Amino acid sequence: MIFNQVVLAPADPILGLTDAFKADPRADKVNLGVGIYKDESGQTPILKSVKLAEQKLLETETSKSYLGIDGVTAYNQAVQGLLFGTDHAVMSEKRAVTAQAPGGTGSLRMAAEFVVRNTASRTVWVSNPTWANHNNIFQSAGLTVKQYGYYDAASHDIDFDAMLTSLEQAESGDLLLLHGCCHNPTGIDLNISQWEVIAQLCVDKGLIPLFDFAYQGFGAGVEEDAQGLRLVASKVPELLVANSFSKNFGLYNERIGAVTLVAENEETAKCAFSQIKSTIRSSYSNPPAHGALIVATILGDVELRQLWEAELTQMRERIAEMRVLFVKTLSEQGVEQDFSFISAQNGMFSFSGLNKEQVARLKEEFGVYIVGSGRISVAGMTRANMDTICRAIAQVL
Ligand code: PLP
Repeated sequence: MIFNQVVLAPADPILGLTDAFKADPRADKVNLGVGIYKDESGQTPILKSVKLAEQKLLETETSKSYLGIDGVTAYNQAVQGLLFGTDHAVMSEKRAVTAQAPGGTGSLRMAAEFVVRNTASRTVWVSNPTWANHNNIFQSAGLTVKQYGYYDAASHDIDFDAMLTSLEQAESGDLLLLHGCCHNPTGIDLNISQWEVIAQLCVDKGLIPLFDFAYQGFGAGVEEDAQGLRLVASKVPELLVANSFSKNFGLYNERIGAVTLVAENEETAKCAFSQIKSTIRSSYSNPPAHGALIVATILGDVELRQLWEAELTQMRERIAEMRVLFVKTLSEQGVEQDFSFISAQNGMFSFSGLNKEQVARLKEEFGVYIVGSGRISVAGMTRANMDTICRAIAQVL
């Protein structure tokens, strides 16, 4: 017997919270843990553009035969268009290659495994804090994870000097994980001049940027959110991107993302691509089709693309409104502490600054669920639940 040697795994800190939330019988409970977009009625809708694309697919799809190892070709091209825009040098110089992969998670895992299998690099630097799953994914792939400073709790802002100081220790060939936009969990992004500094640092030290791009369009807009990536890609010879369409197309359960590699020239890119495909082949052989066909259909059709962009804008603007309303409602509830930093942050998440005891009280006494680190999913707030949330926070402060 061997299975009796297995030790119970700890519950995932975020998905475990969702389980506890589901089991909570209170009618006015609120889940601000997991990063899922909710509309004003508290639902996670299927976008109209997605439904229309699915109808089209249902009518035109003729086979369920396997995709190639790298997935749907039109999808991979569309991904590059979203990441780099149409006139970026990495595209005209054919230095970028893209393989469809299952979600942002699968894309990160394939990128990391590709590096471990084919290069001497064994270290990845991630921000402190970062998305909790980064550690699991990279360690499972055989990388050593090191942290760079990022967040200043006192000012609720970026500590860019700390970031640069930590990265003095990074060595040539190390991967540098960068959140393309809407940093998870802090909601604080680099500005353009900071991106310039990081790009130059990568060039000077030979670091390989690995972009985690899970929220394109949730910050300032589809093009605006790609500025950092595009700038870095114009300076460094090599980089990797793991992107996800879980959030910006609402395709959470379709598991759709991609891994993109930019090399110094076309020949190296092609060679590297053969090994990305080899990594995929030994992991899951080839990806599922539906999510990729939806995204390719939308991005390949002028009207559907316009509709998608409008829907994405609506999601982005609703979250921004909730940030403002949250700060206002806290103040109406008599909270004197300054939470105005929340309205300046980007994307689905903010770091509230609430401590573990306060987070525990929110859950136990008020049925308001947020992650132990104090991360709040602003995307789960609505006009209807705002009073409940803010009243509870006012009680625990
Ligand atoms: N990267 C970051 C920063 C995320 O927040 C998430 C999801 O929450 C992912 C990657 C993974 O996305 P997916 O659900 O597509 O695997």
